Amino acid sequence: MTINRRVFLKSLATTLATTVAAGASHKLAFAAASSRFGDWQIDVVSDGFIELPVARALPGASDDELQHFLGEETVASGSYRVACNLVVLRKADQVVLIDAGAGPSFLDSTGVAGEALSSLGIEADQVTHVLFTHAHPDHLWGVKDDFDEVLFTNAAHWISATEWNYWTDPATVSRISADRQFFAVGAKDRLALVAEQSDRFQPEQEVLPGIVAIDTSGHTPGHVAFQVNDGDNSLVIVGDALTNVRFSFEQPNRITGSDQDGQMAAESRLKLLDRLVAQKSELIGFHFPHPGTGTVERNNGAYRFVSS
Ligand SMILES: [Zn+2]
Repeated sequence: MTINRRVFLKSLATTLATTVAAGASHKLAFAAASSRFGDWQIDVVSDGFIELPVARALPGASDDELQHFLGEETVASGSYRVACNLVVLRKADQVVLIDAGAGPSFLDSTGVAGEALSSLGIEADQVTHVLFTHAHPDHLWGVKDDFDEVLFTNAAHWISATEWNYWTDPATVSRISADRQFFAVGAKDRLALVAEQSDRFQPEQEVLPGIVAIDTSGHTPGHVAFQVNDGDNSLVIVGDALTNVRFSFEQPNRITGSDQDGQMAAESRLKLLDRLVAQKSELIGFHFPHPGTGTVERNNGAYRFVSS
């Protein structure tokens, strides 16, 4: 058998699958949850998880608050774990990915979405569209394969014009805070890689028939959520506009450590939560416990996530 790139990738995937299965506690591999929304088949696949320092979650929070939001054991351990949930929408000949995952060169605990997609019978070259909520590593870096080439070779890559302009600006790397400089370097590199097969949209634009971008800037300058419409029903894939099933809902005004512009992100979060309640939308959170699906209710002047 000739070992071409494709065969090599397949065997690598098998090796990884075996490794991952053997160390099940290390990665959440192949997790997938399926449902239907209108004409779409929806699958939420796991791309693994990220460990974050507790101190970064909510700057200035008291120990009591952190224990309430994150749990006593988590606070004692000093780090908390967030899931990474990629959404796949399939209809007729369309295979639409919302965000590309982290790919092979971000963290050891992320980048398993490719195997999860394979387990659903989806190969990278069958993906027709990748829609990005924003250009952080856990959402964008998966566009690149192990050979530093485009992974989704046949896909149109869609990103908000604001997000594209910000991360492709050569000045961003020197203007952004030092702890985010590697985000800027990585985003510029990945966006250049997919430039020839990418396109830009504006907030409230219908990116694909029935899928509308919602401005939720603040986490990054051009962050968007995606609303999938089916008659009066809607499903909103919120990206990192809502990152935590407790504090994002109970104290949406709160400035978090993960948002680049905390004030703008808080305003976007409140607007989004109002919209989700008014529309009685279903939602999927990228960093909520897998699979991250549920609805929102008003609760004592704030909001509550109801998982489904
Ligand atoms: Zn994220």
